[in-house]
Amino acid sequence: MTQTKLRFCRLCDIIDGIPDDIGEYADRLYSLLDEDERAGKELMDERLNVCGECEKNADGTCLECGCYCIIRSFAVSKHCPVDKW
Ligand code: SF4
Repeated sequence: MTQTKLRFCRLCDIIDGIPDDIGEYADRLYSLLDEDERAGKELMDERLNVCGECEKNADGTCLECGCYCIIRSFAVSKHCPVDKW
């Protein structure tokens, strides 16, 4: 049986804890990005549509990198760890 190695997202270190409401957490994290680093709704939607069809998506967490898919989609400089976007 193959085991997937999980890693933690380093971005999580810049804020205190993860609240129960992932939407609140996501909004806070997005607001911390420089404006020119924010992906914007259209690019985020494109990325999340790909994640939505991906076998590595476990209820919104990427099993390749350990990040929440939505949070990984935020930054222009981020990419899918297996180059799907
Ligand atoms: S970031 Fe890539 S590997 Fe991870 S769930 Fe999305 S498409 Fe799949």
